[in-house]
Amino acid sequence: MDLQRYRQRLLRLKASLAARTGRDITSGREQLIDTAADAGDASVADESESEDFTEAELDATILQQVEEALRRLEDGTYGQCIVDGGLIERKRLDAVPWTPYCLRHLKLLEAASRPKPTL
Ligand SMILES: [Zn+2]
Repeated sequence: MDLQRYRQRLLRLKASLAARTGRDITSGREQLIDTAADAGDASVADESESEDFTEAELDATILQQVEEALRRLEDGTYGQCIVDGGLIERKRLDAVPWTPYCLRHLKLLEAASRPKPTL
């Protein structure tokens, strides 16, 4: 396995995610101040503000997983599922280099956390 290649991808991802989350959170805060100053448009401002935070939160979650993956690279456990220690599929690492789970455990987790479909 070409660990150096994954490390470089993860480091690039980390840098761009860190820059993005920083920006998004700042703009969210600025909007919060605008909202307080102009209560008339509060409902509109609330909506766009919560979207900003949701996106920033998603980036922050991935950023955390990228950092953990880099730590696993240091530990020499990169590419192993954190649930059972089994090897993560190579194709999956290429698609999602920060993933801590093999496909089987990812599917189990997704099934557990997926909200029930509402019609
Ligand atoms: Zn697993």
